Amino acid sequence: TDQLLQKSEKLALLGQMAAGIAHEIRNPLTSIRGFVQLFKGEEGQNVYYDIVLSELDRINGIVGEFLFLSKPTTTAMQQRDVKKLLNDVVTLIQTQTILSNIQISMEYKSNLPYVYCDENQLKQVFLNILKNATEAMPNGGTIELKVKKDNERGVVIQITDQGVGIPKERIPSLGEPFFTTKEKGTGLGLMTCYKIIENHQGQLQIESEVDKGTTVHIILPSAKVELKETGTSY
Ligand code: ADP
Ligand code: MG
Repeated sequence: TDQLLQKSEKLALLGQMAAGIAHEIRNPLTSIRGFVQLFKGEEGQNVYYDIVLSELDRINGIVGEFLFLSKPTTTAMQQRDVKKLLNDVVTLIQTQTILSNIQISMEYKSNLPYVYCDENQLKQVFLNILKNATEAMPNGGTIELKVKKDNERGVVIQITDQGVGIPKERIPSLGEPFFTTKEKGTGLGLMTCYKIIENHQGQLQIESEVDKGTTVHIILPSAKVELKETGTSY
């Protein structure tokens, strides 16, 4: 608990810092990108310009994730069906998973309660986790999505991949800013997830075994009203 508390304090401070720094970096970055693109047009084809542009976009992506963290969180809370949000995100990421030879299976229990959430933030969480799962399975496989009701706590979402897995000693570092093992990673995806789930009074846990795969468990407190079953299970 002490460690958890420390993590959340760090995240809160980070969020405040992020707001200031991200704005300050974005503006000059946008103008640099504009000028680089202009030069590229004059000089004709040059691979270096493309590298500069893609690296600038990478910085912009990192800054974007920070800006996201610093956004106010209590504005857009609404009752939502987690199944639907997951389906939206699966549709989004499908072009990528199909290319990587990855199947996505979904198992949704009936009578799931709604959750109170900021729809876009939760989608961001699911997207980050599904992206990680996809990146962990360069040779394809199956990603399993499960949503169940949890009597005490609300809704449980489980996202399981058959990827490379994470060594035990590395699990506590997950969610720390800039912790990445990927050449082009930002190490900000999971931090964003932890932050958002925490803002929703939920819990995020990661379980993993090297060479077998990883499961991310998300527990979200339910809104009072239960979903009306329409008879279709996604
Ligand atoms: P990034 O994806 O940019 O590296 P993240 O915060 O999303 O940053 O993830 C941090 C690190 O956690 C990854 O670099 C990877 O080492 C590890 N990781 C996260 N999810 C998975 C997963 N599903 N399978 C294996 N490793 C993972
Ligand atoms: Mg990631």
